[in-house]
Amino acid sequence: MLLIYNTLTRTKEEFNPINPPNVKMYVCGPTVYDYFHIGNARSFIMSDIIRRYLEYKGYEVKFVMNLTDVDDKIIKKSIDQKRDAKSVAEDYSKAFFEDIQKLKIKPANDYPKATNHIKEIIDLIKKLEQKGFAYNIDGNVFYNVNRFSNYGKLSGKKIDELESGARIEINDEKKDPLDFALWKKAKEGEPFWESPWGKGRPGWHIECSAMSCKHLGETFDIHAGGNDLIFPHHENEIAQSEAATGKKFVNYWIHFGFLNINNEKMSKSLGNIFTARDILKIYSAEAVRLAFAQTHYAGPLNFSDELLSSAEKGLEKLKNLAEKIEEEIKENRQEGIVPKLDFEKYKNNFGTAMDDDFNSPQACAVIFDFVRDVNRAIAENENISLKFYLSVKEFLQNTAEGVLGILDFSETANQSNGALENDLIELLIKLRQDAKLEKNYVLSDKIRNELKNIGIELQDSKSGTTYKKNKK
Ligand code: AMP
Ligand code: ZN
Repeated sequence: MLLIYNTLTRTKEEFNPINPPNVKMYVCGPTVYDYFHIGNARSFIMSDIIRRYLEYKGYEVKFVMNLTDVDDKIIKKSIDQKRDAKSVAEDYSKAFFEDIQKLKIKPANDYPKATNHIKEIIDLIKKLEQKGFAYNIDGNVFYNVNRFSNYGKLSGKKIDELESGARIEINDEKKDPLDFALWKKAKEGEPFWESPWGKGRPGWHIECSAMSCKHLGETFDIHAGGNDLIFPHHENEIAQSEAATGKKFVNYWIHFGFLNINNEKMSKSLGNIFTARDILKIYSAEAVRLAFAQTHYAGPLNFSDELLSSAEKGLEKLKNLAEKIEEEIKENRQEGIVPKLDFEKYKNNFGTAMDDDFNSPQACAVIFDFVRDVNRAIAENENISLKFYLSVKEFLQNTAEGVLGILDFSETANQSNGALENDLIELLIKLRQDAKLEKNYVLSDKIRNELKNIGIELQDSKSGTTYKKNKK
């Protein structure tokens, strides 16, 4: 039984999708005005792990992540860089896709963009206006929070508490400081679309209500995002969607804890914003994923170099075992002994951990226990049969690779091919040495030249022959 902590009810609840085995999941994606940072990466990776675990359990997940491609920050950047907002958004959307691929995040079923959904957004605002939830002041349309009796149900606050606590922009036009823009009147030089209220562009919150409804329906199973989005973004999405449809918007709300850097909040003024792109120049995607998976998704996470280098170190054990089993599988030893290892136990423990509100730190611990026990079994036995190695590989493929994404067998296979390549070069060096001893210089030169032709350069010295692989 899968339990999920639901922000809406503030309890761990049994997960019951509306239409099993289908699960519909929406995650608030990036605002494409810059490369995404390592804090955003946490939300993207943890939602990826949740989605992969649901699939591991047999659910068919329709996973949608939006791209906010029209927004104040994009417009500001376009003004700073003296180019149009569209090209800023396009460049950083492209970078977003490159970076999530590098982080081995499984592609979503859809990546809707706000600018491709202007019609749906306008229709939704019109509906809210007709139902009396929206008012237009000179081309700016606002949502009237006092009309929605459940306003505050996600953040667990009443309207007056929210008014005194929140940093909300003061705007004389609005009836209530908590009212928020559904449609923003175009200012000089800003991108705009025609609408019943004049030229303008959508507010941020309405995008997600319109796009999630279009791609997942009026009511769907899971909505996720960083916990900075609980208020006002997700609160406002609920107010918009539920007022428009009269139905419950989302059953389970999942929120990711914030990532801090060396115990400080990430911010421009502190100069401690690291992009995922830069971090990946130093550390592997698997190390970033393991570092994140070793903390529960909902809690805060302190990011540091030590965290990543220790994750990289921890991964060595996993990679070494994966390489070993790939080699042994190639041996194809049909006969031989099958050490006793209770595979079901690890599988159950992994499932029990993840079923408890996606307890990935516990799931990682199960994997490392498994690695330790397999290594012990290998050390204690000789002539282990293929069957055993295949079972080990299957478990790691389903869990470490399939759910957590902290192992990549396709790379392991390349690496063991690399090891084989090195062994073959060493063998040729040895044969060349033998040829020289026999004064067969034609053969020894031939070996050297043929290797050179395929990009391997031999270097002779007093202590022997070494080689260098020249990149082609
Ligand atoms: P943004 O591009 O700022 O709209 O954010 C994209 C996603 O990343 C949202 O789900 C945010 O809640 C999340 N996010 C932003 N900053 C952080 C952070 N420091 N830690 C974790 N998640 C974050
Ligand atoms: Zn959103």
